[in-house]
Amino acid sequence: LTSYRGRRVVVLGLARSGVAAAKLFHGFGADVVVNDKKERDQCPEADELTALGISVVCGHHPDDLVGTDTALLVKNPGIPYSAPPVVAAQRFGVEIVTEVEVAGKLSPAPIVGITGSNGKTTTTTLTGVLLEAAGLKPLVAGNIGRPLSEASLEVASDGWLVAELSSFQLKGTTDFRPRIACLLNVAETHLDYHGTMEDYVGSKAKIFDNQSADDIAVYNEDDETCRKVAQNAKARLLPFSVTRSLTNGVCIEPPYASTKPAEGEPELERWIVYKDIEGNGTRILRVDELGLPGRHNTANAIAAIAIALAAGADPEALIEPLRDFRGVEHRLEFVGTFGGVKFYNDSKATNPMASTMSILSLPAPLVLVAGGLDRGSDYMELLPIFRDRLKGLAAIGETREKLGRIAALAGLTNVAIVEPEEDAERTLRRAVAEAAAMAGPGDIVLLSPACASWDMFPSYEVRGRIFKQSAHTL
Ligand code: ADP
Repeated sequence: LTSYRGRRVVVLGLARSGVAAAKLFHGFGADVVVNDKKERDQCPEADELTALGISVVCGHHPDDLVGTDTALLVKNPGIPYSAPPVVAAQRFGVEIVTEVEVAGKLSPAPIVGITGSNGKTTTTTLTGVLLEAAGLKPLVAGNIGRPLSEASLEVASDGWLVAELSSFQLKGTTDFRPRIACLLNVAETHLDYHGTMEDYVGSKAKIFDNQSADDIAVYNEDDETCRKVAQNAKARLLPFSVTRSLTNGVCIEPPYASTKPAEGEPELERWIVYKDIEGNGTRILRVDELGLPGRHNTANAIAAIAIALAAGADPEALIEPLRDFRGVEHRLEFVGTFGGVKFYNDSKATNPMASTMSILSLPAPLVLVAGGLDRGSDYMELLPIFRDRLKGLAAIGETREKLGRIAALAGLTNVAIVEPEEDAERTLRRAVAEAAAMAGPGDIVLLSPACASWDMFPSYEVRGRIFKQSAHTL
């Protein structure tokens, strides 16, 4: 990075990752300009950068932002390739990188990269916990919160940089090479940005692209797309599965009949087992000892176990943390029992597949609070789940009517379409009250929206916290 000393580096997009990249290149003596199309008063980070002597341009993309004198464009992963400064960079032959690529170059430690449509944060967090317990000095960063480039400056050289990676972040990479890469699953989401499913799968597959035979590719043997993608990986393959007994990889024995729980399936004693290259099995712990609830979380847990073992963890060291780890806020989080009704907050379930998994992992029938931003997903996917697992639905947000129609098709009689009030918080509170009224003692009320939150709330975290407060104050 010292080669950028005295040269113009443009950072496009002023999110946390943009700030981290700007500071980084400024620290290496580059002439950094940060640009965001948001107005200055919506860029709280700007002042901090200006104070450091970094120039910040907000409110528009100036025409002369990127020119022949530009050495590098660091692009926020959410900014499309059609944005004018990116087009200009392509025209002038300016190298375009994302913050993740920069982190990959800087990190003195090997990288664990984790991606997938669902379960990234849970798996990444648990991987950090397991590596910590095994004494492998992990630092967890990326899509999960802390910018990866910032963490890459702090990670111990004999530790591991554990990165949660979105498909947005991967799309912008060219050389990024995780020592251990993990693809959890691929669902049909995020199509509004990526355009086609192929493009979306392609960007997820990039996690394996730059790996070589010394690296390890952890993938979900239960997911057809993951299996296909892994066939092209050059790294050593380490599959995980909850439905097959593997000859090499991490699986459960006896395996489940399918990834989704079926009514009446006997609860057998199942073990999480690691099979080495020679096919020798090591039992790690029983599935029912996992602190994480739900079959999808069993998959997340065994993915994290596979990664930890690949990183050199002693299997013995993983047992305690696997028992203790109960998950991350807003992911099937138990809120409490109020008036005899149990409340669960799964605000992070922002697509139908995620909500399906959550509904299936709780006892049926339950009362669901769902709805939000309409991203054009296939909500009909929810029909069988609504029919088999719900006793009521309170629907909010842009998709309230659509979800209400599906509930009617499913034959539900307890359906409340909660019309929006001026204040989104009040709308959600009303939905929670409606749902609680449908629930009897011992029943569950679950917030698992199947939609993003932005039609009503600034984030899924805000939505989840309001849900929790509403439950507490019913
Ligand atoms: P991500 O970071 O990929 O969004 P999270 O770990 O935050 O994933 O989990 C978000 C939601 O996705 C959970 O609340 C749950 O409903 C669902 N989910 C988690 N893991 C899986 C999985 N392996 N398969 C399907 N759905 C999942």
